[in-house]
Amino acid sequence: MRKISILGSTGSIGTQTLEVVENLENIKVMAITGNSNIDLLEKQARKFHPELVAVMNEKNAEILKGRLADQKIRIVSGMDGLVEAATYEGVDTVVTSVVGNIGLKPTFEAIRAGKNIALANKETLVSAGQLVMDLAKKHHIHIYPVDSEHSAIFQSLQGNTGNRIQRILLTASGGPFRGKKREELEHVTAADALAHPNWSMGKKITIDSATLMNKGLEVMEAKWLFDVDVDQIEVLIHPQSIVHSAVEYEDGAIIAQLGEPDMRVPIQYALTYPKRVKNPFPRVDFAQRSNLTFDKPDMDTFKCLSLAYRALKTGGTLPAVLNGANEVAVARFLKGEISFLQIPALIEQTMDAYTVKYEYTLEDLLEADAWAKAYAKKVSF
Ligand code: NAD
Ligand code: MG
Repeated sequence: MRKISILGSTGSIGTQTLEVVENLENIKVMAITGNSNIDLLEKQARKFHPELVAVMNEKNAEILKGRLADQKIRIVSGMDGLVEAATYEGVDTVVTSVVGNIGLKPTFEAIRAGKNIALANKETLVSAGQLVMDLAKKHHIHIYPVDSEHSAIFQSLQGNTGNRIQRILLTASGGPFRGKKREELEHVTAADALAHPNWSMGKKITIDSATLMNKGLEVMEAKWLFDVDVDQIEVLIHPQSIVHSAVEYEDGAIIAQLGEPDMRVPIQYALTYPKRVKNPFPRVDFAQRSNLTFDKPDMDTFKCLSLAYRALKTGGTLPAVLNGANEVAVARFLKGEISFLQIPALIEQTMDAYTVKYEYTLEDLLEADAWAKAYAKKVSF
């Protein structure tokens, strides 16, 4: 019996993880967590009977306690609660599906407690890739990628132990503004940016997909997960999102994983690895999907991608600063405080104002994140 904990069970990945769980046998949800959507948390608690529910907000935790008084479920709150869910006794795999840097501490604690990680929360690897991978090695735990591209790469690596990776082909849909130039993006609204052509996801990652920052974060995620150099990762715009990514080996052979864009497939693989389990999710009909295309990304228009490369090449605490500034930039764009093109401008200004540390601990990364967020909140145009 696999026992899991889902951090961020009320989000897009969290709810899809529960859909996957419903289709699986021999899996038990021990703990779930949320932030503000207590109606959904209550529903999930009544359906999946976890032993623990963690609610970030204390007031919401009290309300939920009242509502679930008839259940044998412990309700906890705050960061301590999130960490308790991440380290809960008996759990073997923690699904990290919270959004943003908030996932850092619970992921670290989960690894220290010897849990395997089904990793959706890419911000954790972006900010602290080296520390996370070192800690995972030290505690002999596995990190199973949930992000569709990284799951595809992971799947393309199976059966190739000992063979060197020549290149990783990291595909990107290009988002809702693919093909547009800067002048055309000056006045786009949050609603325009939230209309993703292929994937239905949380707001933050949807905006990240529109700016191509998501792909930048994924380049960093791939570097850490698969221990490759930046130059070995090639981003390819593939608007149909059928080839989820690929690995090229030294003999020139390319192995890819394909499928309809459906996050439940990589989520399931992260939970059932190395087994493949039958499911009712949609299948590709190639006769209907005959036009698969590939193109280079436009890094001048979508500057966030080049900023991500800059952060990765510089290293140290700069990726954490890029990530923190991006979280604020996205939140400010969603509130209508800054324009779409000001997202990269805000991140770049924050990066320029920062002095990078090359030797750092988790505390330094949290500090860099807090510094970047405070700085990015104050920048005005
Ligand atoms: P979402 O916004 O739909 O859900 C976020 C979850 O985090 C919710 O459960 C929310 O309650 C929780 N949360 C938010 N703020 C919190 C806080 N301050 N404290 C505690 N909990 C908090 O996001 P999502 O789209 O499911 O994405 C989750 C993560 O997975 C992100 O890192 C994203 O980049 C990654 N990811 C998502 C997708 C996707 O298809 N949605 C694909 C690949 C990777
Ligand atoms: Mg992805």
